[in-house]
Amino acid sequence: MAITAPRGTQDFLPEQTAEWQMLEAKIRRICALYGFGEIRTPLFENTELFLRGIGETTDVVTKEMYTFVDRGGRSMTLRPENTASVVRSFLEHKLYGEQKVHKFYYMGPMFRHDRPQAGRYRQFNQFGVEAIGSKDPAVDAEIISLAFQLFRELGLNDLVLHLNSVGCPSCRPIYRQKLLDFFADKKESLCDDCRERLEKNPLRVLDCKADGEKMMNMGVPLITEHLCESCQSHFQQVQQYLQAVGIPFVKDPRLVRGLDYYTNTAFEIMYAPLGAQSTVCGGGRYDGLIAEVGGPSTPGIGFAVGMERLLLTLKEQGLLTVPVGVPPIFIVALGEAARAKAFVLQQALRARQIAAEIDLMGRSMKGQMKAANKAGAGYTVIIGEEELARQEVQVRNMMTKEQIAVPMNELVTYMESNRRDD
Ligand code: ATP
Ligand code: MG
Repeated sequence: MAITAPRGTQDFLPEQTAEWQMLEAKIRRICALYGFGEIRTPLFENTELFLRGIGETTDVVTKEMYTFVDRGGRSMTLRPENTASVVRSFLEHKLYGEQKVHKFYYMGPMFRHDRPQAGRYRQFNQFGVEAIGSKDPAVDAEIISLAFQLFRELGLNDLVLHLNSVGCPSCRPIYRQKLLDFFADKKESLCDDCRERLEKNPLRVLDCKADGEKMMNMGVPLITEHLCESCQSHFQQVQQYLQAVGIPFVKDPRLVRGLDYYTNTAFEIMYAPLGAQSTVCGGGRYDGLIAEVGGPSTPGIGFAVGMERLLLTLKEQGLLTVPVGVPPIFIVALGEAARAKAFVLQQALRARQIAAEIDLMGRSMKGQMKAANKAGAGYTVIIGEEELARQEVQVRNMMTKEQIAVPMNELVTYMESNRRDD
């Protein structure tokens, strides 16, 4: 039986990679504009990093990691996300020594043993940013603005920003207790998943895909009503910044992260038609994370965009336009000697940065002309017997259909000057 790509993985053939490259180029440009520099970390890390950096009770860690023992007997894991690795790298290189906002972005494959479906894969790509070193709410608004500028430049206008605050270690425990008290006599009404969440990670109960709405109607206490003064003020300022630059949002008190090191801002950017895969971007502040993985207490915030989901959204909106490639020069040659010349001319053109192709399928003259058309050639260069004898080529402009004879040793110069005229 033929071997296929593993379930939940995809091949991207050249036509599709052109779409990826368009998106990547746009991302790189916007990140540079906002002062974010690219960071590249390993695709696998010591498993311990993710246990501490993502949290042992999360779905990602309990159900979704690709963990293996390497030949040295160490437990390794293919990265399921990139924040933990960025933080590890930040500490390993002692970047905290310099007091400033360190701004990183990354792009690349992540690995999760998810249930494959449209917009959900086992190897998928994320673009994300991390801004480490400042608690200023302007940073929160800055990274959200970055994501919005990207989406808007891509032509997407109907994405919805959901915004919340998850408080901090001083106000959240009080809220957590309120939540536990509220559900104390309502456990029966919760789904199996939520009963488990209530034990391990009660804030996640609100986020339940099945019963979340119902709980809101039951009058469940909301985190936003239990924020301490400083969290309250941070949340207000983030909203003011967003309003000031015209980024619309909806406040969504069900948007939570259960772990202690998440603080203040939590957000998601959604494209509703993607259904259960509608979150294109998820992010938030993690002022406790760096201390959690063993560093000096340092605030940080970031987001991650699912690039496959973003491309799906663009496709669905008819916004995926990929620039056409450079039309090559196709050299048509008949006979052994002419073919040898064609190969040399092809290389001479390429050496001057001009795309060129020859026939490699033993086609007839007519077949080669057809191939030139199919390749979208801007010019066809013909070397027949007569041309060879005269050390000439016929150059045919495929647009105007004009054809002229050019000395063989002047072809490159001729094409170069033509290119300048184009
Ligand atoms: P979901 O609820 O969709 O499983 P998540 O909460 O696990 O998402 P995050 O860990 O916040 O997702 O990752 C950030 C973004 O990465 C998501 O919003 C989504 O766009 C994308 N993403 C996450 N898991 C996958 C996956 N298995 N395949 C494709 N994209 C994914
Ligand atoms: Mg998930």
